[in-house]
Amino acid sequence: MLPVVALVGRPNVGKSTLFNRLTHSRDALVADFPGLTRDRKYGQAKYEGLQFIVVDTGGITGDEQGIDAAMAQQSLLAVEEADVVLFLVDARAGLTVSDEAIARHLQQQNKPVYLVANKVDGIDGDSESAEFYALALGEVHQIAAAHGRGVSQLIKKTLEPLAKDYPELKQTPKDEPELDDEAAAQAQQEWLRSQPVRLAIVGKPNVGKSTLTNRILGEERVVVYDQPGTTRDSIDIPMERDGKEYVLIDTAGVRRRKKVSDAVEKFSIVKTLQAVEDANVVLMVIDAREGITDQDLSLLGFVLNSGRSLVLAVNKWDGLDKDIKDEIKQDLDRRLGFIDFARLHFISALHGTGVGHLFESVQEAYASATKRVNTSMLTRIMEMAQEDHQPPLVRGRRVKMKYAHAGGYNPPIVVIHGNQVQDLPDSYKRFLMNYFRRSLNTIGTPIRIEFRESD
Ligand code: GDP
Ligand code: GDP
Repeated sequence: MLPVVALVGRPNVGKSTLFNRLTHSRDALVADFPGLTRDRKYGQAKYEGLQFIVVDTGGITGDEQGIDAAMAQQSLLAVEEADVVLFLVDARAGLTVSDEAIARHLQQQNKPVYLVANKVDGIDGDSESAEFYALALGEVHQIAAAHGRGVSQLIKKTLEPLAKDYPELKQTPKDEPELDDEAAAQAQQEWLRSQPVRLAIVGKPNVGKSTLTNRILGEERVVVYDQPGTTRDSIDIPMERDGKEYVLIDTAGVRRRKKVSDAVEKFSIVKTLQAVEDANVVLMVIDAREGITDQDLSLLGFVLNSGRSLVLAVNKWDGLDKDIKDEIKQDLDRRLGFIDFARLHFISALHGTGVGHLFESVQEAYASATKRVNTSMLTRIMEMAQEDHQPPLVRGRRVKMKYAHAGGYNPPIVVIHGNQVQDLPDSYKRFLMNYFRRSLNTIGTPIRIEFRESD
């Protein structure tokens, strides 16, 4: 599991600027899905050798009323569940009433809060940020998110104390081999194939996750076995279906809940993000009656960025008129058409319609994500792509791709070696990605391509 950092602050203090800086290294993949280049709220960060999840809580002003209050509630819940809170204030604008309201709220929480004065570039940081000591949140950490100043120190200071609780914070996870080590990639592939498939059912509140989980677990062909006494509040549910082993990662809290509480209470963004990180395949549930919302897209962006395999389920497909169904399908096509690699199912968790077929797609997606590929095959595909469509000139020289090999699985990573390959334009990288996807016939998993300079 990865630790979670929440960015809090009133609008305009620089939260999304900091968010982008922390998650930038992972942006390339999401950029390949043009439908998702909008604002993201959740991201995986790899910064200073540390990996963690960042949540941009959006602009909380601290004194929301009415609808704003309901929306802020999700953000505040994310704050409660985060391991560390970075509370951003604007060193140029100075201390505001909203800052004070947020500070009072944060003080009531029993968790590490770091006060961060942003935008100290080109001003006297020490004197401009002095007034924030009045918030009584301890040291004022000065940064300039837009330029990266102070960010490394901030991240080290705030995250390193978590290393004892989160072993994965510091190292690359053991199931992520060194990119250039093909033997390690093979070992990873064998290991993945020998394990039960870890499946996370995710989606925003009320889409039907619990209903679906119960439906799956209630089916007689499914054998659920209780885990031997673990002390932590376990959310893993081992099960077997059609002779295959799975572990359901229960984000809906089906097994934990004693009584049915209301949706907002049981839905947790943080647990959802951690479940995605922890899964091999993500089953993302969308509510047919609500269509695609920004929250769906935001979560989807996180899933795509994580590289996990993906199956989409449009739930509550029961009792809808044909006209409405056609309309919904068109809307999905328009808004999700860019995710052309994932299977889309129309189901009713309530009645069980279509639920059985989900597992076929889950299996297929995992098989694609872990299908062994070898150097000669990948190099051949790369050569065919190169013949079909020559790489462009970069600074007057033609980019030359030389060979390709596997760099990892789930998602499949293709490492391409050559001259100036890192300078290939995004359009050509996208062409390659699609070419590999088609040639390898991968369904249900994104593919990553990494480029290595050779001489
Ligand atoms: P958010 O609403 O908290 O997400 O704030 P944004 O990240 O959108 O930033 C608000 C404005 O502050 C934008 O115009 C940014 O360019 C600017 N900004 C963010 N970080 C810095 C910084 O370090 N220095 C300066 N001078 N401006 C910044
Ligand atoms: P969760 O918050 O994602 O776990 O959603 P729940 O499983 O608690 O479902 C939210 C509501 O949607 C409940 O009232 C369910 O009965 C209802 N619901 C779930 N699945 C379906 C479905 O397939 N069809 C219909 N009509 N309602 C459903």
